[in-house]
Formats: sequence, structure tokens, C-alpha cells
Amino acid sequence: MPIDATQAYDDQNIFAKILRGEIPNNTVYENDHVLAFEDINPQAPYHVLVIPKGAYVSWDDFSENASDIEIAEFVRAVGHIGREAGHVEPGYRLMANTGINAHQEVPHLHVHIFAGRPLGPMLAR
Ligand code: AMP
Repeated sequence: MPIDATQAYDDQNIFAKILRGEIPNNTVYENDHVLAFEDINPQAPYHVLVIPKGAYVSWDDFSENASDIEIAEFVRAVGHIGREAGHVEPGYRLMANTGINAHQEVPHLHVHIFAGRPLGPMLAR
């Protein structure tokens, strides 16, 4: 079920449990503010989720309420991960589903990184 991006943070969401170490993940990158791990149901040969360690429901919540340090670390981490994985050429796609119409399912901000094949047009036509 997609979630409302304006809802209060639910600390029982699956990514909160990953951050607390309660369920496993395949980590590809971590720093003080950011964790990145493989998506459990990959939609491309390379499909990684990048999440802030802070408790933010959505891109909307994060962009309004996170500190400048958290935002800078997050944006830099996304770029670093794509670069280190060798995907700047031939390219990668970022996606941050926000709220019901975007079908956001996990109520903790996550940016998807897709790569490893031609990804086609952004939306089905
Ligand atoms: P979204 O629709 O943008 O909220 O995407 C949620 C993503 O989280 C989906 O691509 C799921 O495959 C992924 N996901 C759900 N549970 C896990 C998990 N335990 N570990 C890794 N990825 C997960």
C-alpha cells in the first residue's frame, strides 16, 4: 500500500529496522549520515537504495527538516555511490517516490539508483 508522505514517522518501518540492525541488508556504502544497500527486489542489474540515517518519512520531510549537513552528505553519497560503482558512463537513474500517487511504499526516505542496462523512457508512454 502506498503511504501518505505527510504522515508522522513510524519507527517500525522496514528501513528503520534495517538501520537498527534488526533485519539484514546487503550494504554497499555507509557513513555517519547515510546507508546504502541493495534493493531486495531489483528492477535493474544494479538497484541500490540510499537512505538517510535520520528519521525522515519522505523527500518532502527531508528537504524541509533535515540539517544542511545531512542534506549535503546525502546528496554527495548518492553521487559517490554511482561514481564508485562505475555508472556515470553509460549512465544511471535516480528515483525518490514521494507519497500516494508516486506509490511510495516504505515510509522512510529512500532514493533508488538504477543502472546496468538501458533504462528506457522515464515513464511508460
Ligand atoms: P518505494 O516504492 O519507492 O517505496 O520502494 C520501496 C523499495 O524497497 C522496493 O523497491 C522494495 O523492493 C524495497 N525493499 C523493501 N523491503 C526491503 C528490504 N528488506 N531490503 C531491501 N529492499 C527492500
